[in-house]
Amino acid sequence: MDDLWFDPSKILIGGAWRAASGGATLPVEDPSTGEAFGTISRGTADDIDAAVTAAADARIGAWGRMSAADRGRVLSRLGQLIAARSEQLARIEARDVGKPLTQARADAQALARYMEFYGGAADKVMGQTIPYMEGYTVYTLREPHGVTGHIVPWNYPMQIIGRSVGAALAMGNACVLKPAEEACLTALAFAHLAQEAGLPPGALNVVPGLGEEAGAALTAHPGIHHISFTGSVGVGMLVQAAAARNVVPVTLELGGKSPQLVFDDADLDAALPFLVNAGVQNAGQTCSAASRILVHKARHDELLERMARRYEALTVGPALDDPNVGPLISARQKEVVAGYLAQAGDLDVAAQGRIADDAPAGGHYLAPTLLAGARADHVLAREEIFGPVQVVIPFEDEEEAVAIANGTEYGLVAAIWSADGARQMRLAKRLRAGQVFINNYGAGGGVELPFGGRGKSGHGREKGFEALFGFSVLKTIAARHG
Ligand code: NAD
Repeated sequence: MDDLWFDPSKILIGGAWRAASGGATLPVEDPSTGEAFGTISRGTADDIDAAVTAAADARIGAWGRMSAADRGRVLSRLGQLIAARSEQLARIEARDVGKPLTQARADAQALARYMEFYGGAADKVMGQTIPYMEGYTVYTLREPHGVTGHIVPWNYPMQIIGRSVGAALAMGNACVLKPAEEACLTALAFAHLAQEAGLPPGALNVVPGLGEEAGAALTAHPGIHHISFTGSVGVGMLVQAAAARNVVPVTLELGGKSPQLVFDDADLDAALPFLVNAGVQNAGQTCSAASRILVHKARHDELLERMARRYEALTVGPALDDPNVGPLISARQKEVVAGYLAQAGDLDVAAQGRIADDAPAGGHYLAPTLLAGARADHVLAREEIFGPVQVVIPFEDEEEAVAIANGTEYGLVAAIWSADGARQMRLAKRLRAGQVFINNYGAGGGVELPFGGRGKSGHGREKGFEALFGFSVLKTIAARHG
């Protein structure tokens, strides 16, 4: 692939690029065509062990001795290098993940912005002095955990690397990153640029590989002091159990079934682009996808009709053609989503997008589907589908809207569309979610905005300044001086 300026078949350990210890590789597939266009390494438990050792060495070496201001400078420089290559990174991501080019560009810019944000924040995390007994001076320090493990899914590699590795490095941790086997290329590109920016050897180690092999080895490793996991609920449970055996903290950023609540006084003109985009962005493979649209019964028919018109206008095709909706990541994911659609039963298909006639036959395309007539307890209204499928559910009043919105196991994101300020405030408190948006959805991505779940959407917060507290540990120092 022309845009790749490095060899993707190597892993990074202690500043050196090398083959995985077993020499095995995995194919890189283009979801838009179904064809392989390269190979990545299949990292092993031995590679993870070497990466953890290299990270521990970096903590007591040049990286550990670097001042917070200098750490910030490295990250800021890295942000500039990413920004300079953002078009290249976007094209790599489009090819690797099947993400439409405009959306991949937004991810590359977000990655640059994360480095800028965390670069600027690195020397601004301060402790406190605590008034205490006569004869004592007491203060707190925020220290890095040490070696942090980062397990990343395939849907937003650049964004998730930015928010977790960026914040961890800003606090002085040394990182071992295990990207998803389906989408490693931008993780490797990030590591090359980090070296170019002057990140000392071992501060960032990248070991691509299978989840049950390299991923499991990372979560079980006794040399890891904190784990940041983003992915499915099932694997999140395994990760938390593995972390428990070593008694280390974990951040779990898991799935969602996020609702947007549309009241009778909502400005539908303003809401419509957010309602549809938040369902089909990245082909619905978004943790915070708005997969449930809850609408007051007085506006139900109008909303459904207007959403349907937008669905019918959606373009679906190869990522590099920059359609509204690209392919799903894999044949397997397409099967999962099709399996959900097969359970739609008596739900109405209100509208579907149309796959381009010339879309390659081997690509994993699925027509975006808008479903109506759902009850809140329908399987498609409860479970995360992780595809371009939204269900519209009517409600009678505010009480019922809150009950439906809070009625799944998840609690990641929610939105309220209403002109009534008192209702906005009331519901923002009552909705079970890590982020609540009022008359918008996502607030433009918000590198600065703490993000995370309630319930099975996970725990811990990444993004924003808050992440720096998660990637550090508080020490209290009490000096008795008389
Ligand atoms: P996944 O759980 O299958 O995989 C995620 C990562 O975990 C991959 O790197 C994988 O290799 C690794 N992994 C798999 N098995 C493992 C094991 N036994 N031990 C350690 N690591 C293992 O998830 P996915 O299908 O790649 O991603 C989709 C899921 O991620 C969805 O549920 C989505 O909602 C969630 N997600 C959440 C957020 C968030 O911020 N809350 C963001 C993006 C995605």
